[in-house]
Amino acid sequence: MFSKILIANRGEIAVRVIKTCRRMGIKTVVVYSEADADSLAVEMADEVVFIGPAPASESYLVQDKIIAACLQTGAQAVHPGFGFLSENASFAQRCADEGIVFIGPNPGAISAMGDKIESKKFAEKAGVSCVPGHIGEIDDTAHAVKISEEIGYPVMIKASAGGGGKGIRVAHNRRDVEEGFPAVKSEAKSSFGDDRIFIEKFITSPRHIEIQVLGDKHGNVVHLFERECSIQRRNQMVIEEAPSPLLDEATRAAMGAQAVALAKAVNYDSAGTVEFVAGQDKSFYFLEMNTRLQVEHPVTELITGLDLVEQMLRSAAGEMMAFRQDDLKINGWAIESRIYAEDPYRKFLPSIGRLVRYDPPVEGQHEGYTVRNDAGVREGDEISMYYDPMISKLCTWAPTRLAAVDGMARALEDFHIEGLGQNIPFLAAVMDQERFRTGALATSYIVDEFPDGFDGTTPTAFQIDVLTAAGVAMHRVMSARAGSPARNDWMVFVGHASRAVAVADTGEGLTLTLADDGRVMSLTDVVWRPGKAQFRGRLDGKAFTVNVAPAAEGFVIRHRAAKQKVLVLSPRSAELHGKIPEKKPADTSKMIISPMPGLVVSMDVEVGQTVREGEVVCVIEAMKMQNIIRAEREGVVKVISAKGGDSVAADEVLVEFG
Ligand code: ADP
Ligand code: ADP
Ligand code: MG
Repeated sequence: MFSKILIANRGEIAVRVIKTCRRMGIKTVVVYSEADADSLAVEMADEVVFIGPAPASESYLVQDKIIAACLQTGAQAVHPGFGFLSENASFAQRCADEGIVFIGPNPGAISAMGDKIESKKFAEKAGVSCVPGHIGEIDDTAHAVKISEEIGYPVMIKASAGGGGKGIRVAHNRRDVEEGFPAVKSEAKSSFGDDRIFIEKFITSPRHIEIQVLGDKHGNVVHLFERECSIQRRNQMVIEEAPSPLLDEATRAAMGAQAVALAKAVNYDSAGTVEFVAGQDKSFYFLEMNTRLQVEHPVTELITGLDLVEQMLRSAAGEMMAFRQDDLKINGWAIESRIYAEDPYRKFLPSIGRLVRYDPPVEGQHEGYTVRNDAGVREGDEISMYYDPMISKLCTWAPTRLAAVDGMARALEDFHIEGLGQNIPFLAAVMDQERFRTGALATSYIVDEFPDGFDGTTPTAFQIDVLTAAGVAMHRVMSARAGSPARNDWMVFVGHASRAVAVADTGEGLTLTLADDGRVMSLTDVVWRPGKAQFRGRLDGKAFTVNVAPAAEGFVIRHRAAKQKVLVLSPRSAELHGKIPEKKPADTSKMIISPMPGLVVSMDVEVGQTVREGEVVCVIEAMKMQNIIRAEREGVVKVISAKGGDSVAADEVLVEFG
């Protein structure tokens, strides 16, 4: 085994690799850019090497710098993580030429699987079922139309060199192909420098199911069952799980056997993933193979008990796999939620900034579920605009799927982040949806279930009780501190609805009697003090955690995706409260406001210009994503407050119309 390796990556995955190395007694070297000088990975590594400016193209992607860092520190091998150089065959070859072991598959396997047309040819030969379509290059639009009509609409036009959800378009008819084919071709040319295109059948409402494979340098290949990754937005996964609720034993065995056959066909000798789209009828078709460790690998580790990074290190060091297919079993169910720095209330746009508060749930055993949280950040760290917007990967494991889902909902309650937008309320909303709970998944899930975007959920009866109880308990503590005379009858407003509540202290907690129907609720095990943003307790024995923020006269309390203003008032104040008119929000219809923090790529209008509805006003970029901002109505530009190259904050006014 190696005694020292270099990690050519950053963030969460760099930390993840260090953890396994520490356990195995392997020293680690971490390379870092200017933006990562104070990162957790840098703090945890045994040695660090600075490799340049923040943009990945000037640091993490520069092969010369990575190779030099290995030679300088005497690292015997490189773990590439995912993204960056992980699927770069020429880098794997460079390592081999320099006598450095690449902790991943051999360069031949990477290049064979790196191209979608080539990999489909391999797959067909290995007996893998491919999406019906045309496995070969298509030269012009007329040819594309002919092929599409042979396959039958809808079809998918894809760039052979595509990845990360780019260079893909669905066509439902001849016109879509005539328009889409040249568009994908030019996108492929500009994004990947390779404009080879192919066309395949578009599987309607499919599920994304992938098989984890593992090989060694002695010809052994096994599969570690499947993961389902159907909950996606913008072709990017958000929630993954293992196993898949769709598969039965026979389908699982068939998919596993095909994945192993494909891996063997390319002499696969590390951890990798064979991706399929599956129909709701359990038909399945090969999509592509990812020749690296996958972001969502923890769910596989949780159900198999294997450490995939350890397995990659062992196979890279030439060890023989210590188990066979028959030794592997699925144990329980695991779910992963990707906690992203993005604003779910604003179409999931990136939200960069400082983690002013970062308080994840405790890892390990909880009541009925286990928590694992893979993160590369600490409180006070900054999520910058240079890299992936992922904050952490929160996983839960339990013996059954529903217990893992319930555990995830609880773990999300216990995750507290302040300082930037994050998608925890959105993830919580999904955990509470009946469709998710029954496992009726599809890649269109988010679009189906949130057609108008996400705006939180209306509180359920239980949640109204939770918000009421937490509000009353906090109000009691605050009034006692303020020296107000104790009183026991209150009007509690949760949003616009109010109810009369009588409170009593039992010594072990509070009882709350609702005046309407005489129902008595019992609040126990409270953990909270003024200034704390999380309030924990049990309502009628059921554990909950809510997020609280002070607001005028009361609190804003969020339980999962339900967020409400809660006021606890004396009956007299409640009467007056009903008479105060509501404040109207400011009129922003004559302004263009930045929807996210980022960099202004271009300001496309001038003062005095008449702009029509839908016309491009400016382009803002953050975290690899460009956001084109269009005028919502016609108007004449009066003031411009930002120009190309400026950094802007969320909600900053960019343009005002007269
Ligand atoms: P796929 O959908 O192709 O399976 P994954 O969801 O597994 O992709 O994510 C891989 C992607 O993660 C990379 O293509 C890259 O955009 C992104 N990435 C690269 N480096 C990092 C990193 N250090 N942390 C988080 N994400 C990263
Ligand atoms: P990438 O390299 O960007 O990951 P993939 O070929 O893996 O590209 O496709 C990305 C996503 O697009 C898949 O996870 C799936 O949701 C969807 N997709 C791809 N091909 C098809 C298809 N033929 N029919 C339906 N959906 C598809
Ligand atoms: Mg893919």
